[in-house]
Order: sequence, then structure tokens, then C-alpha cells
Amino acid sequence: MDHDAVRAELEARRDNARARVATLAKRPERGASQGFGKRIGDGTVEAISRFTDIGIGTSVEVGLERTERALAKLDEGTYGLCDTCGRPIAEKRLRAMPDVVQCLDCARARPRR
Ligand SMILES: [Zn+2]
Repeated sequence: MDHDAVRAELEARRDNARARVATLAKRPERGASQGFGKRIGDGTVEAISRFTDIGIGTSVEVGLERTERALAKLDEGTYGLCDTCGRPIAEKRLRAMPDVVQCLDCARARPRR
């Protein structure tokens, strides 16, 4: 595989994910306007949308961590080897997901969050 191309791809993904994390972090706190309306149920909607926001933030952060791990593996010279069992990851899988750090068997055995 062309590691320079993979690195460029991973760096682009990392920068993109970092920008998204920064945007999510900067988003003004929901609930700041609480107290304006007193209709029953508003709080619930608020809680659900907050929960959803947190969920999005977490998945972006998990993706960012994985991309950074894949970049570290390029530096270590272990790129393309499974982080869990050390066996080579199928090239088809790497091409589909350049930031993957586990082989299919290990990923199946321990699904990601
Ligand atoms: Zn494995």
C-alpha cells in the first residue's frame, strides 16, 4: 500500500474531525433560555436533544482517536497490523477504512461503541 497516500488521507480526516470537535465544543449551552416557558415537557425535549448532541460529540471524538491511532501506527511501522492480535489486516478492509486498527475478527469479537 502507498503509505504516503494513506497518511495524507488520515491527516485530512484528523483535521476534519478536530474541526468538528471544536465546533461542538463551542456550541452555546442549551438550556440557557430555560425559565422563559413553563410548559410541561419542555425539559424532556431539552434533555433528549442534549443527549443527542453528546452522542454526536462522542462519536466524532472516538473517530478522531482512531484516526490518530492509525497515524501513530504509520509512525511505528505497525500500520496494517491488528492492534489486538498483531496479525495483518486484510488490505481490502484497510482500503475501505484507512483508519481501521483492528482486523475483522477482533473488531467482531469486540464491537466498537
Ligand atoms: Zn486482530
